[in-house]
Amino acid sequence: MQFRRILLKISGEALMGDGAYGISPDMITFVALEIKKIQEQGAQVGLVIGAGNIFRGVAGAAGGMNRAAADNMGMLATVLNALAMQDGLEQIGVACRVMSAITMRNVCEPYVRLQAIEHLEKGRVVIFAAGTGNPYFTTDTGGVLRALEIEADVMMKATRVDGVYDRDPEKDSNAVRFDRLTYTKVLQNELRVMDAAGISLARDNNLPVLVFNMKQEGNIVRAAAGEDVGTLITA
Ligand code: UDP
Repeated sequence: MQFRRILLKISGEALMGDGAYGISPDMITFVALEIKKIQEQGAQVGLVIGAGNIFRGVAGAAGGMNRAAADNMGMLATVLNALAMQDGLEQIGVACRVMSAITMRNVCEPYVRLQAIEHLEKGRVVIFAAGTGNPYFTTDTGGVLRALEIEADVMMKATRVDGVYDRDPEKDSNAVRFDRLTYTKVLQNELRVMDAAGISLARDNNLPVLVFNMKQEGNIVRAAAGEDVGTLITA
């Protein structure tokens, strides 16, 4: 394993599978099995899951809601995904703890940095739920933040495509994929990797970000092993 401690970021939409909303049990199982593989290879895995499959604050605000109130809903929705993923992991024998940035002691642990590291060192997957705990942020930024806090070697961002392209590859077949990128180029060219807050935080603290396609079976193991999968963003 090139990366010993990994922060894996999965979008909420990835959990929908072929559906248009919600959580696909098949996807939960697929992701759980993929995570189990890298754990068996010796990696420590922290996980951040979005909530685009359930609710996004911007959508609520577009519908007339107060943005902060809508974002609170979005953060709570990430907890639903986290609990589903925890169940999926536990069902295949992978110990997992959910730690939420918004305290809800009856369903999961509150996020405490050193306790999270202790869980990781004991071989448990830790799912960091409720993003940063603040409105106006995204789970991508939350992922970078937690990656830095737990001193992860990399943040691996799973997407629907196999890396970062100069144009949207789902709309333009001439789009070219980058093997490597700098944070600055991502920001200057407004490449759609993640929001500017997240990529700036990664840049300011030199956290490598690997964008890859997790839907392809085995890719996560290849990515963790440092094989040429996806796009690596560094200084
Ligand atoms: N969110 C937030 N603060 C955070 C992280 C998330 O307010 O630190 C809210 C925000 O409304 C966001 C939603 O939670 O739209 C779901 O997160 P995100 O959009 O990042 O999910 P993804 O696109 O990865 O599925």
